[in-house]
Amino acid sequence: MTSHAGELPRLDMYIGGEWVKPASDEYFETVDPFTARPWAMVARGGAADADRAIQAAHKAFKEGPWGKMHPSERGKLIYRLGQLIEEHADALAEIEVRDNGRLLAEMQHQIRYIPKWFYYYAGLADKIEGVVHPCDKPALSFSRPEPLGVCVGIVPWNAPLLLLSLKAAPALAAGNTIVMKPAEHTSATALKLMELVEAAGFPPGVINVVTGFGKEAGEPLVTHPLTRHLGFTGSTATGAYLYSLAAKDVKRASLELGGKSPNIVFSDADIDNAVRGVVGGIFGAVGQTCIAGSRLLVQRGIHDQFVDKLAAFSKSARIGNPRDITTQIGPIANRMQYDKVLGYIDIARQEGAELVLGGKRPDIAECAEGFFIEPTIFTGVNNEMRIAREEVFGPVLSTIIFDEMEEAVEIANDSEFGLAAGVWTANMRQALRMSEMLEAGSVWVNTYRDISYTTPFGGYKKSGIGRENGVEGIREYLQTKAVWLSTAEEIDNPFVIG
Ligand code: ADP
Repeated sequence: MTSHAGELPRLDMYIGGEWVKPASDEYFETVDPFTARPWAMVARGGAADADRAIQAAHKAFKEGPWGKMHPSERGKLIYRLGQLIEEHADALAEIEVRDNGRLLAEMQHQIRYIPKWFYYYAGLADKIEGVVHPCDKPALSFSRPEPLGVCVGIVPWNAPLLLLSLKAAPALAAGNTIVMKPAEHTSATALKLMELVEAAGFPPGVINVVTGFGKEAGEPLVTHPLTRHLGFTGSTATGAYLYSLAAKDVKRASLELGGKSPNIVFSDADIDNAVRGVVGGIFGAVGQTCIAGSRLLVQRGIHDQFVDKLAAFSKSARIGNPRDITTQIGPIANRMQYDKVLGYIDIARQEGAELVLGGKRPDIAECAEGFFIEPTIFTGVNNEMRIAREEVFGPVLSTIIFDEMEEAVEIANDSEFGLAAGVWTANMRQALRMSEMLEAGSVWVNTYRDISYTTPFGGYKKSGIGRENGVEGIREYLQTKAVWLSTAEEIDNPFVIG
């Protein structure tokens, strides 16, 4: 994976079962968000590398052993990859932390959970069945679910290995081949995963990684004539743009995009649980998740008491070195995002929101260099403010007061996004009514930020198209072929109609 030229290790790409240098021979720095210093050089892929990878994946799909392999055998390889991820979880977690600044404790937990996607879809690989149709013609008509061909997976920097796995596991189980492009800030775990792909014994070209910038390395993957599917996680602006490119060639796409998810607390809720859920929803991963519960809707009667508890609990979090296992809040993943979050804090102030916690770099010696921002809470927000409408992707919570259930629903749904929503209440009828009325792909009642390989995940409205996870997740990577076998003894004369 690496060669040592100069001071920093160089990370090459993995294409067609080989470690390859970029056609440009250029590398760019990847930065440790805790120290704000570069720690490795990443291959700067471009159109020529993208073409090489797509061609390799196409060859593996059409000519290689992968396409001819029985699904049970493909399942075995996918399962083996899951086992290898489990065995190398600590090493993968350390790399992820160095690259994106997420907490070591959190990444160790997340990476131990990732193999479940591979086990689940490995098991599904040989259970993809067609159906026989009750056809009204003299024919046996049945459907064959078939793979699409070359799939492209493009992911952002917040949870690279998890988000790639959500795409790779079902795509491969359905019989496709895949080319993945991690974000330019966080390429290292995808490349480490390729060492495990090699060790598992996948045929060359089945799984490939191209690294580099979106426009240079990602776009040629999407527009390549041999690409059949785009699985994208990232911002709504980029997703919509890539969707338009995919549409030009009538390519399939699943998009998991932004959010401005409401976390709604009713006055009858278990307050301590709700405080934990709201804090986990916005300050977990320093708010850098698409499902961040960034709008807190609190029923008027408990507003002040709830905000006090929320601020006190948030303040108790230990901020610092993400590699220290006791740290609870780490840095923002990169400088660009750090500047963006600080910009939104200024906007909220100018809009008249009241800052009750945070809003700045913490006054802690070890946080002096990295991209740190304190957990930040605004009250007095109304849903028209930019801080309530735009995705910040950082540790910034906007609090809005509501009186009645209907008003909460109206505010919650008054958003271009619809990824997730949280409801905190002890009233089961209220919980069910809310789950019916909220326009969101996931509604969590008395919990928040749960995802599982078993349960479909995706967005309403501008939060996305398609679903990942569960049985529904594999359908994104299949197409249906209808086969007709005539049972007629004689074919009708085509010139005699009726
Ligand atoms: P972020 O999530 O950082 O706000 P994006 O949604 O733009 O940003 O990025 C998510 C992923 O999409 C990254 O891997 C990025 O390199 C990639 N990307 C950005 N622009 C393009 C593009 N024009 N074509 C293909 N991939 C892109």
